[in-house]
Amino acid sequence: MTVIQETRDVSTPQNVKAAALQLAEHLFQDPWTRKDAAQIHNCALRTRDTSQQGCHHPHCPICQHQKAYDHGHQMDCMFREEPWQGDSQWVVVTFSVRDCQVTELSECLEAMKVAFRRMTRRRFWKRRVQGALRVLRVDQGFSDTKVAHPRFECVLLLQPDVSKDPAGFREDLWNNLWRDCFREDFIAEVHPENVEPIEQDVRAQVQQATIRALRPRTPPTSPGWFLTAMPQMDSFRWIERFGVLRQLSHLSGR
Ligand SMILES: [Zn+2]
Repeated sequence: MTVIQETRDVSTPQNVKAAALQLAEHLFQDPWTRKDAAQIHNCALRTRDTSQQGCHHPHCPICQHQKAYDHGHQMDCMFREEPWQGDSQWVVVTFSVRDCQVTELSECLEAMKVAFRRMTRRRFWKRRVQGALRVLRVDQGFSDTKVAHPRFECVLLLQPDVSKDPAGFREDLWNNLWRDCFREDFIAEVHPENVEPIEQDVRAQVQQATIRALRPRTPPTSPGWFLTAMPQMDSFRWIERFGVLRQLSHLSGR
């Protein structure tokens, strides 16, 4: 396992830089997004000079990469400052929905956001989860370029006694809970994709899970897909924290 020591000045891998340049190229094709294109393009070309900041564009792969390592570092700081976290049980869960048409992405994201909030208020959740880091991911459909695959990738901090509870990690119960939080008229089929308890070397694994959830997608999506999806994603927060993870002051929300 790679141990990340330096987080403030993470060197950008070539594939991330290439993804940023390609994304900028896509955005140049639409007059409305030329400004975004220039911003991301310049971010990709900037030299590694500490006086230069990233562009902070929400879709910039280079800034996303940096942010992923920053959040991983903040998670690591939390373990240093809150030693009790080391004994806690963590779990990585993906809450997803069936692929939606990319033109209906914002509607789907809104339904997911409401369902997630509803889920955090349920007794099942409260009895098992102390805190959560939730990251929104939206990918282009594998076989159909007109569809989007949105999901929440979550790192959950469980309640101290949940490991004694056999329902703690039961995928079918989590599946039922997540599905139940959607309104009946919502046609998407809902299922958690991955319920993976973090057992060994908790500190490093939570850090890695955070980085994995946040790091940018490479290679990038097709131009048409991205230009349709991007404006619909702008009003949604990429990262959100719940429960005790929200109260930790050094975990910045963005
Ligand atoms: Zn940038």
